[in-house]
Amino acid sequence: MIKLPTFDDVAAASERIKCQAHKTPVMTSRTVDEEFGAKVFFKCENLQRMGAFKFRGGFNSLSRFSPEQRKTGVVTFSSGNHAQAVALSAKLLGIPATILMPHDAPTAKMAATKGYGANVVTYDRYTEDREQIGRELAEKHGLTLIPPYDHPDVLCGQGTAAKELFEEVGPLDAFFVPLGGGGLLSGCALATRALSPDCQLYGVEPEAGNDGQRSFRTGSIVHIDTPKTIADGAQTQHLGNLTFPIIRRDVDDILTASDTELVDCMAFMATRMKLVVEPTGCLGFAAARNMKAGLKGKHVGVLLSGGNVDMARFASLLGAQS
Ligand SMILES: *Cc1c(COP(=O)(O)O)cnc(C)c1O
Repeated sequence: MIKLPTFDDVAAASERIKCQAHKTPVMTSRTVDEEFGAKVFFKCENLQRMGAFKFRGGFNSLSRFSPEQRKTGVVTFSSGNHAQAVALSAKLLGIPATILMPHDAPTAKMAATKGYGANVVTYDRYTEDREQIGRELAEKHGLTLIPPYDHPDVLCGQGTAAKELFEEVGPLDAFFVPLGGGGLLSGCALATRALSPDCQLYGVEPEAGNDGQRSFRTGSIVHIDTPKTIADGAQTQHLGNLTFPIIRRDVDDILTASDTELVDCMAFMATRMKLVVEPTGCLGFAAARNMKAGLKGKHVGVLLSGGNVDMARFASLLGAQS
């Protein structure tokens, strides 16, 4: 049996990161509240440092390195935001960082990662195994591998976002959280069960890659090919050995959202709330909208997980819609 982290670990992470992570704002919208007939609270992790909640897990993990680990450095693989999170955390802590990124990663994410001073190594996301390349680099150079989601320090760092939300707005009736490999959802699940135990907690993944939903419903981790979706932060192929058991125990259901729904939400966020949210960041809102008839009179949380999207891509996604 693997030992699963607990809410105490999330609370400890919260102390560790508070010197550097933003306590992001919680926003509300009268338009949304009227549309839903509910009170909806948006936790704005698109306004977190480097533009996504992943700074929380990255900084928490690297803060725990021993002096030797700090000297040799960190390596990670990522489709973007985790890369930036590790790169920025490494820079803040003076740790050398090597980042494996798909060669077709969004330009803004690649540029930002290099801008933080990390050494970027690219691979082909459709043909190569990033986890294996990462492990090889770690072994060869004595680096510490910090994976994007299946690590206790990473997932507990991510859970601090939900802890802050509950501490600010009190218990909720329903909470919608984007899902890729499950670091964010499992960490938020630990916080939810501790601070708002009766809340209905939903993970939301792209329709094109519903491995999480199938895993949740069948009880064993389903592996899929890299899904083709605009939600590039949730193109994961499977849940993790740590994230899955927590999700299975503490989450109420896994829902999906289509690319079209994500674009509608991005447009809404930009025009009505003046918020830039990346496609993956809209997963929670998209699912909440689909369920709104069942949310009347409730207190609802929606986690906006990130805002890193190239402006050219943002414009073309929104332009294609009208
Ligand atoms: C990584 C990421 C997710 C998914 O997080 P997991 O911990 O992999 O489930 C969701 N949204 C954004 C913006 C991300 O960068």
